[in-house]
Amino acid sequence: MKSRLIIISTVIILSAGITAKAQNNTSVTNNGKVWASLWQQRAAEYKALCFQAYNMAKLRLDAALKKKKGKPLAVITDIDETLLDNSPYDAQRAIANLDYDLKTWKAWTAKGIADTVPGAPSFFKYAASKGVTVFYITNRDEDERPGTTQNLKLYKLPFVDEAHLLLKQGSSSKESRRQKVLKSYNVVLLCGDNLPDFDARYDNHPAQPQP
Ligand SMILES: [Mg+2]
Repeated sequence: MKSRLIIISTVIILSAGITAKAQNNTSVTNNGKVWASLWQQRAAEYKALCFQAYNMAKLRLDAALKKKKGKPLAVITDIDETLLDNSPYDAQRAIANLDYDLKTWKAWTAKGIADTVPGAPSFFKYAASKGVTVFYITNRDEDERPGTTQNLKLYKLPFVDEAHLLLKQGSSSKESRRQKVLKSYNVVLLCGDNLPDFDARYDNHPAQPQP
């Protein structure tokens, strides 16, 4: 599959965010997560890199459209830190000197209010306008479907339905879900911020947390 896919990585982001001012040196330090949050939320360079990645994705998609034949075209995208920006959740945890945990994470995703990664919504809407199907492959759990659907629909993203929002079903590996899409589509782009978003060889690597 790898040879048929063009990999687009937005940016590998330490997903922490900052919505509060530094008031406590200990919590602000928190292994650097707050500083990473500041970069994600405030740096013009971060936004530029995201736009650059999605501009490149559009160029690649246009090239694929010119060569289109056979099966219909599709793009596959990860959600968290590829399409949705969860930095407010991470900021709250970091400032409180706490790490990620599933219960508070799910309370956040249930709200369905995350902002988008720069460039992402316009790219996926463009793909849909060209007749390209979009699949969302994420390791969010099934009980996060309502909040996730709400969040994606908030930005009027295309193909937000049960058939195209492929949540984690048991294994955290995304390979079987990618293969399922490949049965019916020519997948021309993979979009992600973690290497397991692109290829099974990176699954279960300790340096690549999910989702
Ligand atoms: Mg991600």
